[in-house]
Amino acid sequence: MEFSSGRARQKHSRLGGDRRELYPHSLQFYLEPPTENVPLVEFESFAIDRLKLLKVVENLGVSYVRSSEPYRTKLESELRKLKFPYRALAEDDYEARRKDHISHFILRLAYCQSEDLRRWFLQQEMDLLRYRFNELTDGLRQKFLEHVNLSFEALTARSLPSIQSDERLQPLLNHLSHSYVGPDYSVQKNTGKISLEQIDALSVKSFPLCMRQLHKALRDNHHLRHGGRMQYGLFLKGIGLTLEQALEFWKKEFIRGKVDADKFDKGYAYSIRHSYGKEGKRTDYTPYSCMKIIMSNPPSQGDYHGCPFRHSDPELLKQKLQSYKIPPSGITQILELVKGMHYHLACQKYFELTHDVDDVGFSLNHPNQYFAESQRQLGGGREQKKELSNSGNSQQKSNSQESMNSNSTPTSSNTTADAELEGLEAYFTED
Ligand code: SF4
Repeated sequence: MEFSSGRARQKHSRLGGDRRELYPHSLQFYLEPPTENVPLVEFESFAIDRLKLLKVVENLGVSYVRSSEPYRTKLESELRKLKFPYRALAEDDYEARRKDHISHFILRLAYCQSEDLRRWFLQQEMDLLRYRFNELTDGLRQKFLEHVNLSFEALTARSLPSIQSDERLQPLLNHLSHSYVGPDYSVQKNTGKISLEQIDALSVKSFPLCMRQLHKALRDNHHLRHGGRMQYGLFLKGIGLTLEQALEFWKKEFIRGKVDADKFDKGYAYSIRHSYGKEGKRTDYTPYSCMKIIMSNPPSQGDYHGCPFRHSDPELLKQKLQSYKIPPSGITQILELVKGMHYHLACQKYFELTHDVDDVGFSLNHPNQYFAESQRQLGGGREQKKELSNSGNSQQKSNSQESMNSNSTPTSSNTTADAELEGLEAYFTED
């Protein structure tokens, strides 16, 4: 994507003329990147909407035959909802076509940064293009084919060096490629609703596999290495553990192992308070999304963090699922999804099998969403304590924290938080 002001001016003069000339078809082959100046706000909202769209494309592609009626109806409805072009013959949809064009190129930038990301993006874009192409009338198909130039040009990644020097865009692009669209589960509404005694039972029936694995490793080893503490600690915070509960929970477990109480208080307690925004820059950290867990900081030997659907050896995953009494046919389905790199769909299938439902009815993006949906399914609200303990609910955010975290979607403020978290990670080299 070019950001040169000269070319932008040239394009703007064209915009002043015939808009139809710029986007003569509702279907685009994205041969040329946009060259107009795109306001940052639009840049982000377009990108998030396209990300939402591509996630729906992925979900539908796994749930339905691609040319089937439900697939087409649901995809059209999503396109309409997100204001992307949805009918080949729709007139005056310039804004939708422009959004389609710009958002495609923003995600190209965000998703060209690694092989995994590239593959995922290409697959969803191919499915989307195929659907749109099939929706065209014969005449429009012909026109479209005549209009596009099918010759291959080298990958967007070559544009990265110039983009990487733009300090406004690079954090945004990094975040988009690891982003998750939905609530951030940092809100305090659950705080104090879980008791420590409930955690063992909840880990079996309502935790996603990643957190179930971490909980078991913690109970077995009385310790978790840093990546595990961060991933699991923030998840527990998201399901409602107060700071005081978190300190008690981790301390009780750690002092059963090799860490004595003094060492815990001097070292580990600080990082827990830090993650609750009580130390350092007082950032109230949010629990990790699936995308972040899947795409960053892969576990190494001795680690238990990460996403088991992404990071476990398939044979070990199979054994784990067998030990959790998942029926063989379900295990086969999960392993097929894993093979196709549909990790969160594999996790949805695990949810269906462990909750005895045919269709989860939601699109999974976050471990805390998994927990919330599970509790809803199981009527878990009834099991949770009704009253919040006043002392346990004392971690009010400072004003500055509130403004910093008021936006839960992937934003540059979250990028700052990530950077700080990395700083914190570096501070605690102790495993
Ligand atoms: Fe956890 Fe998400 Fe992986 Fe499920 S898909 S195991 S919730 S990281």
